[in-house]
Amino acid sequence: MSDNGAEDDYNNTHRAFLQALLARQTITYPDAKPLLAAIQTAQSPDRPTLPEDVSQEDFENYVHTLNAQISPFDMEIRSTLHQTSKDRIYALVNTTSDALTQMATIYTPDELAFVKRVLDAMFETYNTARAEVMALTSMQALKLAKPSASDERRRESTQTAASANAGLTMMQAEKVLALLVEQEWFELSQKGFYALSPRGLMELRGWLIDTYNDQPPAQNSDDEDEEDEAEHTKIKFCQACREIVTMGQRCPELTCNARLHNHCVRNLFRAQANREECPLCKTAWQDAPPVGEKAARHGAQQRRTTGGSTSANGRRRTNEVAEESDAESGAEED
Ligand SMILES: [Zn+2]
Ligand SMILES: [Zn+2]
Repeated sequence: MSDNGAEDDYNNTHRAFLQALLARQTITYPDAKPLLAAIQTAQSPDRPTLPEDVSQEDFENYVHTLNAQISPFDMEIRSTLHQTSKDRIYALVNTTSDALTQMATIYTPDELAFVKRVLDAMFETYNTARAEVMALTSMQALKLAKPSASDERRRESTQTAASANAGLTMMQAEKVLALLVEQEWFELSQKGFYALSPRGLMELRGWLIDTYNDQPPAQNSDDEDEEDEAEHTKIKFCQACREIVTMGQRCPELTCNARLHNHCVRNLFRAQANREECPLCKTAWQDAPPVGEKAARHGAQQRRTTGGSTSANGRRRTNEVAEESDAESGAEED
């Protein structure tokens, strides 16, 4: 790329790049190459820039220069690796307001309450000591279109006594889910699971920790999983890269809090002189159970192999069955 890209001076090309970012939520370096080439060529038509002329360093210089300009406005371009594709995703993130406040400018209060119920399901209902799915199918999400009785109790006992929350129709809920995917808060997997996208994770990081960790466990005291759940930390971090893990692996010792992204496993082993063990509890890191939508399928398989006899009986089940299901990691979820 020509030398005007290497300079750190803020100019029209930076403004154009910022405009493009504002319009598109996230960007990767490969996507940025043709964009920056077009912007540079428009600036200096006599010296056209080709996409392949835009180096990673040029791109990062743009990000660096823009970050210096936008930080007074509490904005920052942050990046994170996609948890499964490993692509580095850059997003324009608001550094002060919590993400739900930010969403309130786009969504109505009833829509936002639905988004909150979906997040609660993602990080509480479908994120248990037995199965850390942290994702839900559209069927599971659409069931949350209307608030349940226990949601209502919870609302009353906490905050937002605001409007009588009527909930959404199925159609409205479907539209909100589609918009969440379009704006890259959520992503929809091939198997039909909604999970937080890299952008969602970057924007919601602080809020997720504040909301789901350091929280008293849910109050239905007849729950067979109650004891497990009291101990279960909802948001956990990768032992290698320190980012939140919603897709990856968990320590084979199921009470241990160590988590890893699939692409971080090798980095961790390398960092501990090729010892293939958990950095926290030293259990051999073998056949590590999945975190993410695979944990849901994992759970379904467990149920089939144990003949469906383990779920309803809870603590009263026989030792034999209990041992069997525990040995198989008991990743059932209901
Ligand atoms: Zn990681
Ligand atoms: Zn461990």
